[in-house]
Amino acid sequence: MEIGDDPHIIVFPFPSQGHINPQLQFAKRLISNGIKVTLLTTLHVSQHLKMQGDYSNFVKIEVISDGSENRQETDTMRQTLDRFRHKMTKNLHNYLQKAMNSSNPPRFILYDSTMPWVLEVAKEFGLARAPLYTQSCALNSINHHVLHGQLKLPPESSTISLPSMPLLSPNDLPAYDYDPASVDTIIDFLTSQYSNIQDADLLFCNTFDKLEGEIIKWMESLGRPVKTIGPTVPSAYLDKRVDNDKHYGLSLFEPNQDDYLKWLNTKPPASVLYISYGSIVEVGEEQLKNLAHGIKESGKFFLWVVRDTEAQKLPPNFVESVGEKGLVVGWCSQLEVLAHPAVGCFFTHCGWNSTLEALCLGVPVVAFPQWADQVTNAKFLEDVWKVGKRVKLNEKRLASQEEIRSCIFEVMEGERANEFKRNSLEWKKWAKEAMDEGGSSDKNIMEFVQMIKQS
Ligand code: UDP
Repeated sequence: MEIGDDPHIIVFPFPSQGHINPQLQFAKRLISNGIKVTLLTTLHVSQHLKMQGDYSNFVKIEVISDGSENRQETDTMRQTLDRFRHKMTKNLHNYLQKAMNSSNPPRFILYDSTMPWVLEVAKEFGLARAPLYTQSCALNSINHHVLHGQLKLPPESSTISLPSMPLLSPNDLPAYDYDPASVDTIIDFLTSQYSNIQDADLLFCNTFDKLEGEIIKWMESLGRPVKTIGPTVPSAYLDKRVDNDKHYGLSLFEPNQDDYLKWLNTKPPASVLYISYGSIVEVGEEQLKNLAHGIKESGKFFLWVVRDTEAQKLPPNFVESVGEKGLVVGWCSQLEVLAHPAVGCFFTHCGWNSTLEALCLGVPVVAFPQWADQVTNAKFLEDVWKVGKRVKLNEKRLASQEEIRSCIFEVMEGERANEFKRNSLEWKKWAKEAMDEGGSSDKNIMEFVQMIKQS
């Protein structure tokens, strides 16, 4: 489809599921307000994308190579990221050279905050630009303090006090040591998100004012306008104002069966535990075994996403042994599952998208963070938003079978179960309000639409 004469912008997500989803959802809101969007992605992603719905009718997808075809098994993470940045900078430059000379050149580029080099290329072309932060503003604060040497990871003291944040313990800070050889590379990669913001026109954040109000104000003190535009969950689950917006649209995975919704239909309200740890986390064999036994021991109905690459770690005959009590799938439509009345608890790794989805759909959580921002998201879910319990780790840094069983019990039927449910429903209401006409995020989106139209 040709991009017509309507104001045109480029959106450029980092090539992973959790980063593509929010960028595309923001794009859909812009499209529904008369902005044309070109989604720029990598060759690798374009070869694995599955389309849900007919988004090709309104998002033009352009592909550039990130050099991953030349990847060697022996490459370090730093080599991989350096090649990615180098290749993409060059290819983005070539792409923009053509795009800026087309009949409808882009007026703006919205890029993932983890790719700050996009800003430098945009600047060369005089193109207006803004990063989208696909993590919480709490994480922005932590990473920013690390960048400026005001906080060390791991921290040196047992309580960490940052402006506008609750007191944190070392256990609440993002953990980047899952690949000990690459810790410095990962920290450099994540803190670089703030390295050149003084040259950005705006800073977009996938959060909403009610959720992180004070921390958002702190972020504004960095000197650029901060625009909250989230939660970027499809409109069908919130304000229902964007037509046909029921799925994220582009998926790197596909459900391998479709009977899980029928299975949920046969279960009583709020009786099912849904378990997923997202698209990237790999759980060690002993932890997975503890999970399997803890879930089974809880006695609850459960729907568990075990990606194909994880499935061989399940205890032998686990699926047969649980019978009608549980269903294990390789992938599912998480939004449809969380929205199903039979689901009463979400056992989650606390990726930022999953965190927002739990809040938007009013489902209490058992927080099972593994690394990076998940750990801080778990702290907020438990202690700030108060929608569930976080599993405690033992001396081996594993959640035991008993701990898992007991957290599931506490969230689904313990003393505080009603409080968790009540709070979850409040967040659901506030998330919808933010995206609804005149809500805090809606206002920011509409201001941006006007800015693009007038530019
Ligand atoms: N997801 C899904 N089906 C699944 C598991 C996950 O649709 O079976 C989606 C989920 O709804 C979320 C995304 O994958 O939008 C995962 O993003 P998140 O930030 O939670 O975690 P990540 O995968 O980046 O660790």
